[in-house]
Amino acid sequence: MNVRIPTLDLTRNYARIRGEVEEAMSRVLESQHFIMGPDIALFEGECESYLDGVEAISCASGSDALLLALMALDVQPGDEVITTPYSFFATASCITRLGATPVFVDVDPDTYNIDMDKVREAVTPKTKAFLPVHLFGQLAPIEEIVNELRERGIAIVEDAAQAFGAWRMVDGRPLRAGTIGDLGCFSFFPTKNLGAFGDGGMVTAKSKEHADRLRTLRLHGAGKTYYHDEVGLNSRLDTLQAAVLRVKLRHLEEWNEERRRAADRYAMLFAERGLSEWIVPPKELGQNHHIYHQYVLRAKQRDELQAHLEREGITSRVYYPVSLHLQKCFAFLGGKEGDLPVSERLAKETLALPIFPEITMEEQSRIADGIRNFYDC
Ligand SMILES: *Cc1c(COP(=O)(O)O)cnc(C)c1O
Repeated sequence: MNVRIPTLDLTRNYARIRGEVEEAMSRVLESQHFIMGPDIALFEGECESYLDGVEAISCASGSDALLLALMALDVQPGDEVITTPYSFFATASCITRLGATPVFVDVDPDTYNIDMDKVREAVTPKTKAFLPVHLFGQLAPIEEIVNELRERGIAIVEDAAQAFGAWRMVDGRPLRAGTIGDLGCFSFFPTKNLGAFGDGGMVTAKSKEHADRLRTLRLHGAGKTYYHDEVGLNSRLDTLQAAVLRVKLRHLEEWNEERRRAADRYAMLFAERGLSEWIVPPKELGQNHHIYHQYVLRAKQRDELQAHLEREGITSRVYYPVSLHLQKCFAFLGGKEGDLPVSERLAKETLALPIFPEITMEEQSRIADGIRNFYDC
């Protein structure tokens, strides 16, 4: 039996940076400055340089980043927030947590991202914000409607939890995920392409007003310690995590490129095996620089294929098995089967294959062979 191929092997990544990380963590340990230590402002500053044109406010998780972003916009009961049904749960729960109503709009079958034409149709006088997700590491083409929505007083919050460093050419300029809308939300959950050694997150803001409000909101709404202007959250990034993330950010560009090369190799290996009748590889839009946080294809007989790969020692995952409008906790919104056919179909057809910067050609060949063996072609 071959060695099992995991969807993600963080130990290989750690081996490349162990020395740098140990030094950075040891510096924090010696200082014993665990909350809002110097690495926090340094990390935020480095993110601001890397992302270009935004202020960065770190926080405790990607889920909190989304919640803080909507709080900074005063999203409240009666408001509608347009978002995608094909994403991780936190994209929608931040809306209902504030008593507002998620309006799910169906997605594009090729990119799995929210369909811009359908977003236009979903706008009502109650629409307070638009919350697109740059799913699996590829930007949604939101620049098409950003200005139109802004003119109608609608704020744009990008969920960039899976897309740190991904970009898109807009008017001849590369714009990174989280810098096109008014606010951007990032997650440093360990499995994300920029992952900490525990939970972590960040909000990016275009305006100083939003940035200042977010800095207060993450500290219990206290502008000055023990003086509370409003009720916020206790949501800070740990200094230790910031120290780790500073090391990783220095390598991120290289790792994202390695992910892209791995995606190219998959495409080549599938083409060589003539698999186009059975699987549809992920599509990258022309102006996009996809960073392949996940490599998600569509497959005929998806569940059987996954079981077959499992028997061959290949791990794969389904992102996401249930469209958000059909989640039990959102039943009160009245969503039903058939409402969002593309999202529902993707939930039955997509499969995420192993991808990470250190994955080898040999492993990818075994995966492609495993797929060919299943379809017996
Ligand atoms: C991971 C993720 C989140 C939540 O991030 P956490 O850090 O796990 O709270 C939100 N949205 C999307 C699209 C994600 O992938």
